[in-house]
Amino acid sequence: MFPIEVSCLKCGHSLMDTDTPIEGFPSVHLLIRSEGKRDHVYLSALYGSHRGRLKMAIPRGTIVDIICPFCGKALSDGPPCLSCEAPTVSLEMARGGCVRICSRFGCRKHAIAFGDIGEVVAASVMNRYVVTVYESDTLQHAAATMSHYDISGLPVLNETERLTGFLTLDRLLQVAYPDSLNPDCLPIPAIETPEDWTGITCGEAAEEDPLCVTPETPLLEASKIMIAFCLHQMPVTKNGVLVGMLSRGDLFRALLRDKTG
Ligand SMILES: [Zn+2]
Ligand SMILES: [Zn+2]
Repeated sequence: MFPIEVSCLKCGHSLMDTDTPIEGFPSVHLLIRSEGKRDHVYLSALYGSHRGRLKMAIPRGTIVDIICPFCGKALSDGPPCLSCEAPTVSLEMARGGCVRICSRFGCRKHAIAFGDIGEVVAASVMNRYVVTVYESDTLQHAAATMSHYDISGLPVLNETERLTGFLTLDRLLQVAYPDSLNPDCLPIPAIETPEDWTGITCGEAAEEDPLCVTPETPLLEASKIMIAFCLHQMPVTKNGVLVGMLSRGDLFRALLRDKTG
């Protein structure tokens, strides 16, 4: 199970409540109305979990009104539940698309939908927390960083924090072992090693001016570029500044959600 982060589709306010964690994650805070009574409800943000906190007693099977605690608008006006046909509540997910929950108390149907995949842009699915290195960092530092985070590519920044290159594991191995014919077969070198690495910086080893997309690039276009150039990941930049990374995994997950949503 993975935690989701949602906001109100009507007012855009985040519904995540850090003061009321459930199962170790901020909960989803909503208002519930049934037979003239209102109460706050806190739902687990773990997708697929049915834990929640509610004081009001509601008989199972009752269809309740679900309301945004911030704008007061009714949210249960989504398409019918696939399981029981009660109206669903659509909540916007921070990483794009929406999650639908059923308004029938006790119904366990949750669904994630992506709307029209053609409208999804890079910003919706990119990873905003990116591990980077600086041009002046050594290759040992880059290898240690890749090994520590279990990643195979690092955006390289200059001292003004602008993206100037991209260092892949393949590239790093080619630089570290120039005589090797097939660097792909080599294991990640031990970090405290080769003498001949000293003095080589990430700036020297990295591929310059890597292919990038912007946050507004449609996901389908980004996918085409990644496939055409055999890229496993691609930086997302805005005016030369790195704002995120797209990976093939992000693309596949988005497309899969679209097909199964
Ligand atoms: Zn709202
Ligand atoms: Zn239902």
